[in-house]
Formats: sequence, structure tokens, C-alpha cells
Amino acid sequence: MGDNQQREAAEVSPFLAKAVACPLCELVSPQRRIKRHLYQEQKRDIDLKPLSYHWKGKGLTVQHPLIHFLWHCPGCRFTAWPGAWENPIRGTGLTLTKYRAALRDLPGQDPADAKVRALLLQGWTWPELDYEQGLRLHLLAVHQLLLLKKATGALDSLNLGRYCLRLAWLFRELGERPELSPTATRMAQLAGRLRPLWPEAPLDDAGALRAAAGFYEIGATDAQAVEDVGELCNLLLLITRIHLKLRQFDPAKRYLGRAHELTRNLEQRKQQMEGAYYQLEQRARSEARAVSELARKRQQEVSAQIVELDSKFRGMRFKVQDVRELLQDEMDAPPPGRTAATQVSDAQAPDEDFLDLDLSLKPKKKRLRDLFK
Ligand SMILES: [Zn+2]
Repeated sequence: MGDNQQREAAEVSPFLAKAVACPLCELVSPQRRIKRHLYQEQKRDIDLKPLSYHWKGKGLTVQHPLIHFLWHCPGCRFTAWPGAWENPIRGTGLTLTKYRAALRDLPGQDPADAKVRALLLQGWTWPELDYEQGLRLHLLAVHQLLLLKKATGALDSLNLGRYCLRLAWLFRELGERPELSPTATRMAQLAGRLRPLWPEAPLDDAGALRAAAGFYEIGATDAQAVEDVGELCNLLLLITRIHLKLRQFDPAKRYLGRAHELTRNLEQRKQQMEGAYYQLEQRARSEARAVSELARKRQQEVSAQIVELDSKFRGMRFKVQDVRELLQDEMDAPPPGRTAATQVSDAQAPDEDFLDLDLSLKPKKKRLRDLFK
């Protein structure tokens, strides 16, 4: 095979695979994700569900990116998105030792829980995933974190929100795509068996959306879960969007109001910094050379902080405005039928960070209060 042919053959697989050690049992297994450059999301729903994809490149088996969001350990069954594989304890307040111990003991604790896990793992063909297994994998991830809560009291609210939101998207698509109707039938049967064992299970679009909002709302009040003001603003806007999708306008307004307030506070802080900057400038002009150099240096620092605050503030204000217009449009619009067309958000597709609230993979940002020391 020539180089070109080899390259073409290599491009046929839409997956990027790598061997990763499980954070729980340390078993090394191949995990994969769809190569991001192979497809483009075209539009998103109000709650940010991707509505359509454009696939680039020839010879591709078109995949469904949503079902490949989670990684799964074939040894201990740990199931989580890649960010949580990297740092599973983030936001839980647990040590890794405690986290591991709790999840290792889980299946034996309660017969109903063990049955739920067995049902979700039935007929497993990992790493080959079809739509149904993608759905079951998300349910497994939610169930696992609820068991962690039961065992330790620690609620991994942001990851629970993240998985429930995606479950809602998967259930929505299940109801909308005719070719998935055999899967829908099987899922309905599975739901019937799960419900008595796991009464609060998110087993449909609206139920999963409500669960996502509930978990994200807890995350938004937990300083351990969200430390950065920009991330908190994104989270509040995401909660607003979920309530909008559920046509719950009062909570939507409340969370939008909180995001707006956050932006206003940031603006005020920026103005205070500007005041400090001008005072330093006057000192630098009027005082002796040694003092003046110090003041100059401090002034440069303050100036850099103002620039950072300014870009954060502008970004947040833009997003708040965007969701505010969406709220107005939704409140003015008649309740939608099932067509997605009336619900399409005109907003630009937000970047990955907005959707994933990918907190753990980013280098730790300066906390806002550090800026004002
Ligand atoms: Zn494992």
C-alpha cells in the first residue's frame, strides 16, 4: 500500500483511540472518542443539544457523536466522561482513596442497586456501542454517582447535571428518529424494569432535563464545584436554557437575573480597578524616582488585571444578552409542537467550554479575589 492509500485507510476510522488507565482499578484499556475535525455541529437547540452534523471526508461511517461521550472501564465498570477520568474527585470533596473505596464496594451494598447495574450492563459489547448502549452507559454513569452519594454523602453535581442533560438529548432523538424506533421499544421495556428498582431514574427527555437542572442548580451554589466567576456565569446561563426548554419561565428569569448580577458586579470591580490605576498614575508622576518605579510596576500589574476583567466581563455580558433575547422570544412564542424548527436557537453555537463546562482540563485560573489583594 502506498503512503496515500495508507493515509486514506487510516482516515476511514472516525475514532481516535488511546490506552488509558482506569482511575479506580488502574486497569489499562483502550478508550476512544470521535475525531473532532471529522464533523461540524450545525445548529443547537435552546438547551444546546446539537441538532445536526455535517460530516467531512469520504469513506466515513457516520457516527452519532453523543453516544461516544463517555468512557467505560471493562474491569470495574467505572463510567465517566474523559474529564472525570482525569480528575474524578473534582468538586466532590473526597480523597481519591475514599472515592475509590466507595465505588468499589458499591454493587454489593443493595440488591436493588446491583440489579439496576446488571440490567444496564446486559448484552454488553463494549467498546462497540449502538444507540441503546450509549443510552444505557449514560444511565450507568448517573446511577454510579448517585450510589457514590449514598455511600459518602458527596454529590458530584456538575457531572450528574452533565450526564442527565445528555440523557435528555439522547431520549429526545430516540423519539424523533424513525430508524431508532426498535431501540425506543427496547428502551421502554428496560424502563419498565428499571422503574421499580430505581424510582427516580431519568428515563425520558423531560425527566432527564428536570434532573439536569436540579443537579446544575446545586452545583451553582457550591463554591467547591465552580470557582471561577466566568464559569459560574456559563453555568447559570445553561440552567436558564434548560428551564427555557422546559418552558419554565419563572426559574429561567431567576437564573438569568443571577447571571446578570454577576456581570454587573464584575463591571463594578473593573471600575474600582480603573480608579486604583489612575491614583497610581498620579503617584508615579509626583513622587521620587524610587517610589515612582514601584508605582509604575504596580500600575502595569493593575493594567493587566483590568484587561483580563474587561474581556471576561464583555464575554459574560454578551452571553447574558443572548439568553435574555432567547427568553423574550420563547415567552412571546406559542408553545411549540414537536418540530425542532420553532425551537432552534439563533445564538451562535457556543464553544466547547460552554457546553461541557470543562472545568477540570483547564489550567487553574486565578481566582477573582486574588486580583484584589
Ligand atoms: Zn476500572
